[in-house]
Amino acid sequence: MSPEVLIVFVDSLPYALLPRMERMRRAPEAWPLRPGFGYSVNIHAEMFAGLLPDDVGYFGEWTYDPPHSPGWRYRRILPLLDALFHPYVLNRGLQTLLTRNYHPGVVVPNIPLRHLDKFALTGYHLLDDPAAFPRPSIFTEHPEMRFLPIPRLPKGERDAVSYEQTMALLAEGVTSLFVPFPDLDGFGHRYGIEGEPYLEHLRRLDRWLDAVVERFMEAHPHGHLFVVSDHGMVTVMKGISLELERAVGPASHRTYVYFSDANILRVWVKDEALREPIRSYLDAFEGGRLVTEAERREYGITDPRFGDFIFVLEEGLAFEPSTFARHKPKGMHGYHPEAPGQQAVCLHWGPAWRGDPPRRMRDLYQMLVAALEGGW
Ligand SMILES: [Zn+2]
Repeated sequence: MSPEVLIVFVDSLPYALLPRMERMRRAPEAWPLRPGFGYSVNIHAEMFAGLLPDDVGYFGEWTYDPPHSPGWRYRRILPLLDALFHPYVLNRGLQTLLTRNYHPGVVVPNIPLRHLDKFALTGYHLLDDPAAFPRPSIFTEHPEMRFLPIPRLPKGERDAVSYEQTMALLAEGVTSLFVPFPDLDGFGHRYGIEGEPYLEHLRRLDRWLDAVVERFMEAHPHGHLFVVSDHGMVTVMKGISLELERAVGPASHRTYVYFSDANILRVWVKDEALREPIRSYLDAFEGGRLVTEAERREYGITDPRFGDFIFVLEEGLAFEPSTFARHKPKGMHGYHPEAPGQQAVCLHWGPAWRGDPPRRMRDLYQMLVAALEGGW
């Protein structure tokens, strides 16, 4: 008999906001989950395939990988172009032109022309296409579970469709289903978690999920229903500027290379003489701290290709500008996984869980496997 399991994935639903969801907060079991370090591209691999960044071989969407960078073939003329196209708008305009065929559909981040020969897009977004993900996941191991892909619609319009599709499939008698609700993330980045459009969407989700729970549990009183998220979200209070080049000199293939996401900075040291100056600059930098060796082991980010230094900002700050974007977002995630606003959520309906409370994304993966394989 195929398992009766419904997994609802809500992108970026913070555990901290559960009290604001009238209906979801009444779930029989609710646990906060610590996300992995980094962003969704890695966290999803841990949630749905049990794999840490060291296991999959990538950390972050973009990484230092010159031969695969969009600017590698222009590398000899990039410094000249960068000097000629100095005003930001021109620089970014030419960058867009040079990178338009790189990965169609992917927006190349805020990389200045002179650094266009350094960073390459890496990693696999598991939920885009589980079959293309190079390792087994709950989706490839359990083809009996119907997988609803993220609707190909503009951001903000997808959750309503996910909801309609879920209700229709449940009415058809589908017993095992995975469904994504991707839109809350965008509302968080755009408005912050106190913004009215964000809170409005949170209330909408609460109503939709409640209807889904009612429909599924009525049909499958002994089934398992999960509502899970990948990480939290906090409002960004302040932009902070990184003056690494002013402090230790220009970045280059011969000196050092750095990539700043909104709140995580990675530095690759090429000239050993610069290692200590970079370390002391980052040690003294207010508003964040270096990730320790012990933490890199704990979170599975020990691979030296992930950077000689990994640095993370305190919750509520964001680099502005960053290598990723010119301006800071209104809301962000990806801070230290122990930070309170970053905690993800796992809600469960069905036979109570008798094991240890899940704490990490790997624990959630084990729970999902147990529900799908009858090992509950
Ligand atoms: Zn996000």
